[in-house]
Amino acid sequence: METVFSKIIEGTIPARKVFENERILAFYDIEPAAPVHVLIIPKKPIPSMNDVTAEDLPLIGEMHAVAQQIARELGIADTGYRLINNCGPDSGQAVPHLHYHLLGGGKLGALVGNSASHA
Ligand code: 5GP
Repeated sequence: METVFSKIIEGTIPARKVFENERILAFYDIEPAAPVHVLIIPKKPIPSMNDVTAEDLPLIGEMHAVAQQIARELGIADTGYRLINNCGPDSGQAVPHLHYHLLGGGKLGALVGNSASHA
């Protein structure tokens, strides 16, 4: 499926890249929600976390290693950060291409905004 992220991978939409290899791309979010807000995506068009299969697990692991490396390079490894995946409607996932948000560079707000409790 063609998405804004597949167009960024193809290069038809520009992005401020912070990391790229054959499997993974990372770039700054266009609407930053924190002083540092980077999106980490696989080049493989996996729509969401629900679609990750056993064969994708090395890729998912590598995405975490890339997040760790970017956090170090952008100076937020010690101050702290969040690595967030939104999956499906309740999460607000807007782009149907798997991605992690790497957020940091300042005190982050509540983990979850308005929502019912689990009670
Ligand atoms: P989601 O809500 O799907 O978890 O997050 C999608 C993210 O993609 C949002 O934070 C949004 O700001 C970002 N985004 C959407 N379109 C673009 C774009 O064209 N370029 C960049 N760099 N980020 C985008």
